[in-house]
Amino acid sequence: MTAAAKPIKRKNTAIADRYDIAIIGGGPVGMALALALRDTGISSVLLEARGVPEKDEDPRPLALSHGSYLILKRLGVWDKLSNRTPITQIHISNRGSLGQTVLTPEDAGVPALGYVVNYHDLFCSIHHQLTGSATDYLAGALVTRLDTDKNSGTVTFDYQGKEHQLSAKLLVLADGGKLAKQLPDISYCEHDYRQWAVVANVKAETKQTGTAYERFTADGPVALLPNLDDFALVWTVSPDEVKEITALSEPEFLARLHEHFGDRLGKFIAAGKRSAFPLALKYAQSTATQRVALIGNAAQTLHPVAGQGFNLGLRDAFELAGEVIHAKSQSLEIGKPAMLTKYQQKRQFDSSAVRLFTDSLIKLFSNDNELLKHACGLGLIALDRMPPLKRFVARRMIFGARG
Ligand SMILES: Cc1cc2nc3c(=O)[nH]c(=O)nc-3n(C[C@H](O)[C@H](O)[C@H](O)COP(=O)(O)OP(=O)(O)OC[C@H]3O[C@@H](n4cnc5c(N)ncnc54)[C@H](O)[C@@H]3O)c2cc1C
Repeated sequence: MTAAAKPIKRKNTAIADRYDIAIIGGGPVGMALALALRDTGISSVLLEARGVPEKDEDPRPLALSHGSYLILKRLGVWDKLSNRTPITQIHISNRGSLGQTVLTPEDAGVPALGYVVNYHDLFCSIHHQLTGSATDYLAGALVTRLDTDKNSGTVTFDYQGKEHQLSAKLLVLADGGKLAKQLPDISYCEHDYRQWAVVANVKAETKQTGTAYERFTADGPVALLPNLDDFALVWTVSPDEVKEITALSEPEFLARLHEHFGDRLGKFIAAGKRSAFPLALKYAQSTATQRVALIGNAAQTLHPVAGQGFNLGLRDAFELAGEVIHAKSQSLEIGKPAMLTKYQQKRQFDSSAVRLFTDSLIKLFSNDNELLKHACGLGLIALDRMPPLKRFVARRMIFGARG
């Protein structure tokens, strides 16, 4: 420890210096874990670097699977989300080949394939639910250092211009993956896709009717998700193009998108603010170490194709909460190696399978090779004609690797 731990007062809440769980990072996954642990008798604190929810609006759309809907409903968040658009079918095609397939709720045996929400709306809804609970929640607390021994973990953080510390039996990293580099046993595999996602709301001549379009091209996929009356665009572009595409005038941007996506929705007639995100695959080789567990983007950051990252992170949070609650109910100490090994083993299959699925989609479909392009097109035709295979794929997109 570098300084004596001091209790912090925030509104009427005294932040203690010792907890069962300290969650580092209050993005949607970290907050979901905090919510899952409320009213369980497990003491937890959430430390978030940004002054939430006043942070900049993050415009990215999130396609939530039916499985995430069920978890968010259980956490009491779903009914607070005002803007959510059901996905009634998913149309998948490959530019330059004939193959296409359509997934419907009947294929997967669920009432809706998923829902589109905005990251910022989801963030605000979980935040609202959390501030109404007894969870200790510090916004504007930047964690700078992690220390662990076999009995506990210690977090050093800056808050209101001072350095503070607190300790917990388990530190959960939900910070997107920067802090784990301080831990000797955690290392990441990284692959830069050399692609960026340009995100914007767009209006087309054809109104949205609940269909989500995923179109693969040699430069990467372009997705148009139903979003209220319009579409949320996630357009993968090369690093050379990203500056140019985000700087185009609106009519030029709309024409370029039309040329790229094709005529399925007619012309595009309006676009909102554009934002761009670099895309990489990054995953921790081990998602737990002495008194530490990783969840969400801290455990794995995926390409947004097929909209799996948050859905997977939410399952991390939910399964970790289950292990912690189980340990408590059996009077076992939280954060012991046996508990962490169990968490890690439970998540391994789902995480590896989803990672492999998204990574293979990008590697197979983002290429100019004519033979491969036609093979992918034939694959889509085959998928369309084989209901059991369709059901297999649809359920894995919705519920994760165990379908
Ligand atoms: C363009 C795009 C589209 C996407 N679409 C989808 C989709 O359709 N469906 C889907 O499931 N997923 C999608 N994703 C992925 C999804 O956005 C992420 O998986 C999800 O945001 C991860 O949430 P998280 O809480 O783990 O991490 P983050 O959202 O990154 O949150 C991490 C939090 O930790 C805080 N933090 C960081 N460092 C510190 C520190 N030192 N101290 C304290 N706090 C700290 C940050 O301020 C932040 O609030 C998409 C991603 C992109 C880029």
